[in-house]
Amino acid sequence: MSFRHSIALHLLTVIFGFYFLVAVIVTVVQLYKEYENTKESFYQEIQLLPTTFGQGISDSVWTYNQELLQSILRGVYNSPIVVGIEVKSLDHKMDYKIGSILDKDSHPAYFDTDGKPGKSAETGLGADALFGYTFPITYQGPAFKDPQPLGEVTIYSNERLVFERVKYGFFLILINSVIKTLALWFIIFYFIKRYLGNPLNEFTRKIKQQDSNQPHPITLDIPWSDNNEILLLKDSYNQMILSVNEYQAALKTLNKELDDKVRERTHELFAAKEAAEMLAYTDVLTDVKTRRAFFELAEQELKNAVRQQTAASIIMIDIDHFKNINDTYGHATGDLVLQTFAKTLKNSCRACDLIGRLGGEEFAILLPQTDLNGALHVAEKLRLSVADSKLTHNRQTLHFTASFGVAETAPGQYMLEEILLQADQALYTAKNQGRNQAVAYKQSTTENT
Ligand code: GH3
Ligand code: MG
Ligand code: MG
Repeated sequence: MSFRHSIALHLLTVIFGFYFLVAVIVTVVQLYKEYENTKESFYQEIQLLPTTFGQGISDSVWTYNQELLQSILRGVYNSPIVVGIEVKSLDHKMDYKIGSILDKDSHPAYFDTDGKPGKSAETGLGADALFGYTFPITYQGPAFKDPQPLGEVTIYSNERLVFERVKYGFFLILINSVIKTLALWFIIFYFIKRYLGNPLNEFTRKIKQQDSNQPHPITLDIPWSDNNEILLLKDSYNQMILSVNEYQAALKTLNKELDDKVRERTHELFAAKEAAEMLAYTDVLTDVKTRRAFFELAEQELKNAVRQQTAASIIMIDIDHFKNINDTYGHATGDLVLQTFAKTLKNSCRACDLIGRLGGEEFAILLPQTDLNGALHVAEKLRLSVADSKLTHNRQTLHFTASFGVAETAPGQYMLEEILLQADQALYTAKNQGRNQAVAYKQSTTENT
């Protein structure tokens, strides 16, 4: 913090601005009082002069001794507080003026030591502001019962001499107050800085150094221990920091909990998605591929067959007279038949064979790397297995058969729909020829039927 911006300097400027105003007023009043006192003491000093010189003046006027009078008056004139003397005798024979006096119109006039008019040597403020003290000249001789009036003497002083004397006192007052003011300034500055400026600086510095992620309560090196405003401010700040930290910790926990929850939910969603995909891919009743899955995967298998230049075949299967089973034993038993049938297919197929339920009681199997003969062989084997299988229901044994249509991919012909259509036609032939048989698709088959 620069000196120019310190709180101590700002406070001092304000404090000493007012202090200076008060000091000037007090000094002016003091000076005026000092001036009054000094002028009063001048009067008193002048009034004392007649006790010293009064007798000599009376005697010289009484005896008309001009020389004596002049020498006495010069002696009085030399007094440091006297600027002029005027003697007025009743017969005007012993009138005498010396130095600065006031004429009969109260205008200042100047006379030299020989009593001749001249120009005043006194200059400066108050040189012409004369004030005087007049006392009578009387003669007290043995021949007279009462003092005989001879005239009067006026002794003058001026305000310049009063100023001179006051000036000295004024300088003392001035120097005194300047020294006191400077001392006071430094003392106040030092203590404001020490007790207010420095702690506030330290406070600011420590706040700036805080780690905003994890602020800590701070301590201040303050030279007092009572609970003053700065310490209260610091305590409030620390209180706030503690609440902020608590709040942040709570937020962090909440964040973590939310994070965990989001992760858990994501995991659940992922599992649900997988389950949904499984559901979409697997037929719930028979646990073989759904129609959609079968088409997707069969498409993939055919592409592989193209790349590997191998054959692939498809068998289309339809249970015979399934409607009758449903009608005779009920739909639930029909479902059991479907399950038994699918299980028989799975048990008799290779792991690489793709079994799908295309709808109702219609199934298809894709056999990779198998030609028409191989596929017909598999179909025949499946037909026998199905015919051999049985289902016991309500103590009744139920038998059923299925018809099979087989087709294979011709070189350069790998269209799934095409082969399925061919296998379907072969199946149609099998049904037409009395069911419970496997028929391979032949060009002639279509043409014949
Ligand atoms: P065909 O020998 O000519 O095939 O005779 P079919 O009775 O099997 O004839 P069709 O294919 O027309 O009949 C299929 C029946 O299968 C009709 C339908 O009620 C029944 N069905 C279809 N899906 C299901 C199913 O999921 N469960 C049961 N229980 N029956 C089904
Ligand atoms: Mg059918
Ligand atoms: Mg059928």
